[in-house]
Amino acid sequence: MEASNHRPTKMVIDRQALRHNFLQEKHSLKPETKLFAVLKADAYSHGVLAVAQVLHEVHVDGFCVATLDEALQIRQAGFPETILVLGVTPVSQANLASQNDISLAVSSCDWLRQVGSQLTTSLKVHLALDTGMGRIGLRTRTEVLEACQLLQADSQLIPEGIFTHFATANEPDTHYLEQQIQSFQELTADLPLKFEYRHCANSATALWHSKWQFDMVRFGIALYGLNPSNEVIKEVPYQLQPVLSLETEIVYIKQMTAGQKISYGATYTAQENEIIATLPFGYADGWLRRMTGSSVLVEGQLCPIVGDICMDQMMIKVPQLYPLGTKVTIIGENNGHRLSATDAAHYAGTGNYEIVCNLTDRISKKYV
Ligand code: PLP
Repeated sequence: MEASNHRPTKMVIDRQALRHNFLQEKHSLKPETKLFAVLKADAYSHGVLAVAQVLHEVHVDGFCVATLDEALQIRQAGFPETILVLGVTPVSQANLASQNDISLAVSSCDWLRQVGSQLTTSLKVHLALDTGMGRIGLRTRTEVLEACQLLQADSQLIPEGIFTHFATANEPDTHYLEQQIQSFQELTADLPLKFEYRHCANSATALWHSKWQFDMVRFGIALYGLNPSNEVIKEVPYQLQPVLSLETEIVYIKQMTAGQKISYGATYTAQENEIIATLPFGYADGWLRRMTGSSVLVEGQLCPIVGDICMDQMMIKVPQLYPLGTKVTIIGENNGHRLSATDAAHYAGTGNYEIVCNLTDRISKKYV
């Protein structure tokens, strides 16, 4: 989707905050631990190439993405760092990955058996282990040993990594996390093959269980300044600076009288003389209808979204007749008050990950 650069709705991406979060994490790691930035889903909607550029300048060790296409976008833009695809890549695409020096997660022995015949050049692989996430990966020691044999038997396959992903590292109760760590240690103990990187740490593990950083950290949500626990765990080892703000302007404003209705379904009725402003921002930009009733900031005041959020517009109730063009903050700071992606997530009953990833390409981006 093309960005709508001619409307006043924009994401403001703070490169200094991005650098800050990255460097804070870098400095908290052992010097030999690698720090990979997770840039999947257009860098959690922050704009993948601009984010990659900032991180390249501060010497990021590598990038993780979800799909081969995301990896190719970064590689074709000229970034030389290691790029790891975390999701399942079809065997038929493995050669394309190898030709572009892209590393792939591998989650079955069958995949390894089939890939050999496809390759014209060597392919770096990371064995994915399912220690309790129940998503992808080898599940037993027998499978892991078999995968090692298959890797040893094919000199085109380079054993770059072995990893797992935690389901509950962002929760205060650590029991399940401990089980997963134990399973990871058992599955990876005394293997007949040396993997360059053994890794399991996402942001939550990096922040709250840094003992388990192993050889590399896959740093996602905290890189963007968001708390992986949705602020359930408030204490963080260093300040996280939110990278993304979301702003728009009042494009229309009117006085309504008691009994008049607003938006689809006519579900909102003005109770008195109310001043209603219209914003050029809607669910096609990623602000789902379930955000109706939550607030945005105008001149530092919380103003509720009234009536159903439309595809491209929404209405808010404001305390006075503001001039057209008055700034409205959906995420970020406004006159000393702040609304975060986590606040929006709490309102919507979801996580801050989903709030930022939902923001669509139609919103123009301004990098400061
Ligand atoms: N590693 C894997 C395998 C992931 O799927 C993700 C994201 O979901 C991450 C790392 C990054 O996680 P986070 O954003 O919590 O740091």
